[in-house]
This record gives sequence, C-alpha cells and structure tokens, in this order.
Amino acid sequence: MNEIITASDRQTFQEEFAGRLPKKIFDAHVHIIKKSSCSDTFYKTAAYLEKFNNEFTVNDFFAVGKEMLPGIELSLCGFGMPGMDVNRTDAADMGVDNKRVFGLRLISAYDDVETIEKDIIQYKLCGIKPYHNMALKKPGSTVELLDFFTPEQLEMVNRLKLAAVIHIPRKMRLEDPLNRKQMAYLCETYPDITFVFAHIGRAYYQRCAVGLVEEFIKYPNAYWDTAMINSPEVLKYTFDHFPNDRIMFGTDMPISALHGKSIEINNQYLYLTPEKFDLGTSLYDGSGQIIYVPFLYEQLRSVLALNLPQKSLEDFFYNTAFNMFNSIAERMYKK
Ligand SMILES: [Zn+2]
Repeated sequence: MNEIITASDRQTFQEEFAGRLPKKIFDAHVHIIKKSSCSDTFYKTAAYLEKFNNEFTVNDFFAVGKEMLPGIELSLCGFGMPGMDVNRTDAADMGVDNKRVFGLRLISAYDDVETIEKDIIQYKLCGIKPYHNMALKKPGSTVELLDFFTPEQLEMVNRLKLAAVIHIPRKMRLEDPLNRKQMAYLCETYPDITFVFAHIGRAYYQRCAVGLVEEFIKYPNAYWDTAMINSPEVLKYTFDHFPNDRIMFGTDMPISALHGKSIEINNQYLYLTPEKFDLGTSLYDGSGQIIYVPFLYEQLRSVLALNLPQKSLEDFFYNTAFNMFNSIAERMYKK
C-alpha cells in the first residue's frame, strides 16, 4: 500500500490526539473492499481506491489504523462498497470474528431474501447495508428510502433482530420530510431492527441536524453514526439534543484516510482536498499552500472539541457500537 499518512500527520497525532483518545476505538462504519468482489466498472466510480491498490481488506484496515491511530486497539464493523456491479456474496466473506471484526451484508432490493439470509448466517454477519445505488429502480422518479429494500427483506432482518446501516437518499438529506417520514416508518414497523443512520442522516452541515435529530429520540432502535462528520457544530448539536448512548463513532474508511476537510458553506458542504481524486462534492486544492490532515483527524478534532467527560468518550468511541454489534453476534452465533 502507498504511504497514507505523512510525517506532518504523525506530528499532529502526537500533539493533538495522543493521550486524549480512549485506549479502544470501535469504528462502526468501514468499507471492506476485495478485488474479487469488484468489477472494472466499479473502480471507475471510486478512483481514489487506487491509493489503496484498489483493495481495503480487514488486514488493510488494521494496518492503516495502526499508522493513523498508533497505540489504540481498534475494532470494526465492515461492509463492502455498495454497487450493483459488486458481488455481494463474495463481499460478505470478509473474515469476521465477532470479537474485533463484525460485518454486514450489502443488499440490493433485487437480492432474494433466502440468499441474503444464507450469506448472513454463513459469514456470521450482524445485519445489512443497503444503498441508493442498489435500490428498486422506478423510471422517472428519484430513489426513496423505502426503495432500498423489499418488505420481505425487512421482515427477515426484523425476525433475526439484526442491524441495518443506512445512508439516507435525496438531495435534502435529513431536511427532507419524506426521508424522515420513511425513517420513522421503518423504526416503528420493524422494532427489532437496529437502524444506524449513517453520517447523522448525512448532516455534513448544521441545517441538516438542527431541530431534526430530536424527531428520532422516541424510537429506541434509531441510532446515528458520525462517519465523515467534520463539523463540531453538528456534533455538538447532536450530542446536546439526542441520547448520547445512541451515537456511535465511525470513519467511513478508507475515504477518511485521504487528506482534506469537509467544510460548511451557505447551508451546503464541500470536501476541500489536496488529493487528485473526485470525491463527489469536492474541490481540489493543488496550491500546496495548505497542509492538510486526513479527514479522520478532522473528525477527531470535532469530537474532542466537545470536551465530553471520559466515560462519554469511551461510550461514543467504543462501548455503544461494541455492545450493539456484540449482543447481536452473541445471540446469533455464540449460543
Ligand atoms: Zn460509507
């Protein structure tokens, strides 16, 4: 693998993070990418993976993690990189041990429910990872959250009492009333599924969180992960207005190992990055005037800026996610 972090990053870690982070971190949002699962068309949409030699296995996660977070014991919940051209059964075989490595199966609404269930059991996974690019296609309309899966798939996941990590669709994210209505519908209709809404409902800027995260307090099966959230304001708002024991740390690795910062501009956001890859909503800074750190470090800065008590930090960085995934794994696989 290419050099991922620089000498300047190492210095930042020592100056700002060493000794301030808990000893153990559970990363609840990691993309595990195996070459065997992915087609050439898939790599066209994820050119930045070239930096990781087009692969990010569980071993790669631990290797990069050791470089980026030296001295910290890492655990993870992994899942493939979503795509219709990704072999989802192969991606499910990522090598979980349900001690430090937990996993989810990518699902398309077109995958038959028996195959999904069989893969989950065979590879000892804790749930599902649907995505808008694997949802039901309805000509002429934008994908809705409920197009991500079929009722039969959801009933199976509910029967097995598993987790679902969900990246909500549509331009307006958590601000979109239809998204919130369908999120509430899912939480109510499938009370035994733990719904982890990724990126705090994609709230990369404040207007997507303020006055909205509260709507989900009443659903005990609704959780947030904070993957790629670089905004201290969004995190502070969420910690101030939502039960902290349902907020979990995630990184969205490998993308957060790249250098850059997500910044809020006029109720929108932008990834400013010195990396020569298209990261979606991103602007390339080739000026060389700014020294960047990895997105992951910007996330850590935002969290540490909250000055949470030690116990809350340990819960956020480890206990909440570990306890949730571990309780599923114990019930399913360690009887
Ligand atoms: Zn992700």
